[in-house]
Amino acid sequence: MAQLIDGKLISTQIKDELKEKVAKMKAEGTEVCLAVIQVGNDPASSVYVNNKKKACEYIGINSLAYELPESTTEEELLDLIGELNERADVNGILVQLPVPKHIDEDKIIKAISPKKDVDGFHPQSVGALCIGQPGFVSCTPAGIIQLLKRSGIEIEGKECVVVGRSNIVGKPMSLLLLRENGTVTVAHSRTKDLKEICKRADILVVAIGKPKFITEEYVKEGAVVIDVGIHRNADNKLCGDVDFEAVEPHCSAITPVPGGVGPMTIAMLMNNCVESVEM
Ligand code: NDP
Repeated sequence: MAQLIDGKLISTQIKDELKEKVAKMKAEGTEVCLAVIQVGNDPASSVYVNNKKKACEYIGINSLAYELPESTTEEELLDLIGELNERADVNGILVQLPVPKHIDEDKIIKAISPKKDVDGFHPQSVGALCIGQPGFVSCTPAGIIQLLKRSGIEIEGKECVVVGRSNIVGKPMSLLLLRENGTVTVAHSRTKDLKEICKRADILVVAIGKPKFITEEYVKEGAVVIDVGIHRNADNKLCGDVDFEAVEPHCSAITPVPGGVGPMTIAMLMNNCVESVEM
């Protein structure tokens, strides 16, 4: 049976380590503060924002919540970001995406100071990752590296295949695996012979957004499989981009959905908030 990579357990370990660190910082007179901005009241975004607030409370990070109406203009949002960029008591700024259509998401991402860019989406953060300089790293791929390391899975020298090339998951994931000395292939919707390419992987990371797309035909015997996808099926049950039941018997280790990659994203966001003070 494959080793189940327990994201719930590992994310709790990380949050507990951060809690200790933040308590120490507080005792030395340093507070950590995250500002979270939500525009409109998309129910999924409200759940994410609420989970972030709860994680801040658990760790001892102060959080400022800005719940702005759907009618907020781009200029108003940019003004608020400008104000928060200047505030010495705010370490991290996060704008919950997606923003309403009348606001240019790209402009918002670029407006956040790279020093407070805890989501790691600013072009300066992405550039720093690319050339191996310090900077914030996108939370989901950073969480996957932690899952691998803390489960005792070696990356160096391994054949790593990342399926998906989005700016928030696939691309930063491939750069991080490269930084850990993996040999990395990135596949996408125009890739030919996807099955053959995936079958080469010692470590297969799947972030394509298609429920149960990856079956046992894509997986080498003994591979490590990381499933980033999250979907709700007709019975309201969660599943990933990987057909877990079909793939699990062929892996040496695999992340479940739920309880795999998902919980790591918020843990790494909290980690970035603490790092923003250290930076
Ligand atoms: P995007 O839709 O932005 O990107 C999907 C990527 O998959 C694209 O690069 C696309 O290729 C590629 N792709 C799509 N279809 C195929 C195919 N048939 N074969 C090969 N490649 C394909 O998605 P995200 O990266 O944002 O998210 C991926 C999944 O991960 C989603 O289910 C999302 O909900 C989940 N997610 C989970 C998170 C968590 O915390 N656990 C965080 C973020 C995302 P191309 O570029 O050619 O179009």
